[in-house]
Amino acid sequence: MSPENKYQVIVVGGGPAGSTTALYLAKRGIEVLVIDGRDPIGTPLQCGELVPSNQEMRRLCPGVPDVDDLFQTPESAICRNVPEMHLVTPSGKRLRYDFDGLVLDRVAHDEALVERAASAGAEYLVGTRVKSVSEDSVTLSDGRVLTAGIIVGAGGHLDVIRRSHWTEKSMNIPVKFAIKEGNHTNALELHFGSVAPGGYAWVFPKDGCSNIGLGIQTRFSRGVSLNSYAEKFIDSYSGDTIYRGAGALPMSGTISTFSKGNHVVVGDAAGMVLPSNGAGITIAMIGGRIAANAIADHILDGKPLREYEREWKRQMGTVMSRSKRAFRLGSILFRLPDWVVDLLFNPITKPFIWRAVTCRSLLSLRI
Ligand SMILES: Cc1cc2nc3c(=O)[nH]c(=O)nc-3n(C[C@H](O)[C@H](O)[C@H](O)COP(=O)(O)OP(=O)(O)OC[C@H]3O[C@@H](n4cnc5c(N)ncnc54)[C@H](O)[C@@H]3O)c2cc1C
Repeated sequence: MSPENKYQVIVVGGGPAGSTTALYLAKRGIEVLVIDGRDPIGTPLQCGELVPSNQEMRRLCPGVPDVDDLFQTPESAICRNVPEMHLVTPSGKRLRYDFDGLVLDRVAHDEALVERAASAGAEYLVGTRVKSVSEDSVTLSDGRVLTAGIIVGAGGHLDVIRRSHWTEKSMNIPVKFAIKEGNHTNALELHFGSVAPGGYAWVFPKDGCSNIGLGIQTRFSRGVSLNSYAEKFIDSYSGDTIYRGAGALPMSGTISTFSKGNHVVVGDAAGMVLPSNGAGITIAMIGGRIAANAIADHILDGKPLREYEREWKRQMGTVMSRSKRAFRLGSILFRLPDWVVDLLFNPITKPFIWRAVTCRSLLSLRI
């Protein structure tokens, strides 16, 4: 820590968004401190652990440059490479698609990202929560106060800066999951219909176990709790449960402003999750790199911080707006009776459904 406790940038939260921001700031020679309440960062696990491969990311997010520089997932953080995704209807009918997915060891993934940022020169203060942020000062839960020229909120959907300095709300969807021992599937499965009203359930195969979970929109669940849906779905799979977790996903897309004065938000704190498929890890990292470069340009060349939003829109604007549109459509369709959902998933609609899930234009027949 510098003698006066003063940094060029402090990042609150060292998950995918915060550590990526710190990595690219450090690469530009900026003095950056990441503060995280967890120790180690990434634990406890709160994730379905699926990310698209780099090749798939180039297809999903064609506006994002240098994908291989951004995503350097080490082999040790990949449990399984799965080449196929199945969309499963209430009656068990499957629409099968080629999709190159990596089922991660998410804890190892986040730890590797921290290691990358630290090796580039970012400082970390872990096991310490940030209580509040005002102007250029960050107050820690132990009473210490640190200062920085720019303060970044990367604390997830409950980020302290987002909550205290932004009034805009996001729609957060509650999610529950479990890791179950056994071999349940060889594909990435997404299940739709009354199994998860307004959302979906997933089964992602790992090494001798699966990550099984679901998210719902409570306004469509007719008073039935997330716990009931989750227990019913997870219990329908055999095997011992070796882990249970829960969390929430912001599913209304990005908020309208990512920076206010010297405060910046990124990742879940800025709503950077693709609502049509729940992808948040890679999207937080895309946001983190853009935020870092905009902050570095601001500090080094006096460019406006607003360049962050403009560059985000250039790289991700179209993908995000298509994903939001697909989510709105899905929210209507996936609370129809199961027999209707079953009818809607058919060979004719198959390419359109896939294009909606993968955030592409619906006006094309190409899968
Ligand atoms: C159950 C579940 C399943 C998911 N499955 C997937 C999936 O399969 N694939 C996918 O791509 N995405 C998935 N997501 C979404 C994904 O996990 C998030 O989008 C992603 O982690 C966002 O990264 P982030 O860095 O913005 O936030 P986070 O990963 O939440 O990191 C925030 C960090 O900030 C720290 N922090 C927060 N507040 C403070 C504070 N006041 N002081 C200090 N530290 C603080 C936290 O300790 C944490 O380490 C899932 C989410 C959930 C909840």
